[in-house]
Amino acid sequence: MAGEGKIQCPCGRFVERAEEYKLIFLKKEMREIDILCPNDSCYLREIGYVKFDVKDNKPVFKEAIFYPPFVTWNMSQLGEKASPMMKRQLTEMVTKIIDWKKITADVLKGQEAEAARAEAARVEAARAAAEASRPGQAAKTA
Ligand SMILES: [Zn+2]
Repeated sequence: MAGEGKIQCPCGRFVERAEEYKLIFLKKEMREIDILCPNDSCYLREIGYVKFDVKDNKPVFKEAIFYPPFVTWNMSQLGEKASPMMKRQLTEMVTKIIDWKKITADVLKGQEAEAARAEAARVEAARAAAEASRPGQAAKTA
């Protein structure tokens, strides 16, 4: 069998090297990188994630997992050796493939945007409060 001894997505796609997975960083506020199957027409698409945090402008790794359907499938195909093989791929993604510099820059950029939005909301609230307390517009107190 051609694919024997290789990690495989339940959709049928073999994944020999960790580089083959697609890693996308959309969930910026959740600090989560999605792991997608290399097969574009995969019915699972998202097969795992890498979670991290950013502290003092540096990335701090939290966890990397494959989701249960992917894990269960490989355990049933490969038996005991599935776990260390999957773990090795996850480790490679985290230590060699993910561009942490870029990811961290993206997070910090997002944080700046969040701070700017919060500041705009604060200014708007202050303006509205000032308006409401202007004489003549406020409720009659005298
Ligand atoms: Zn797949």
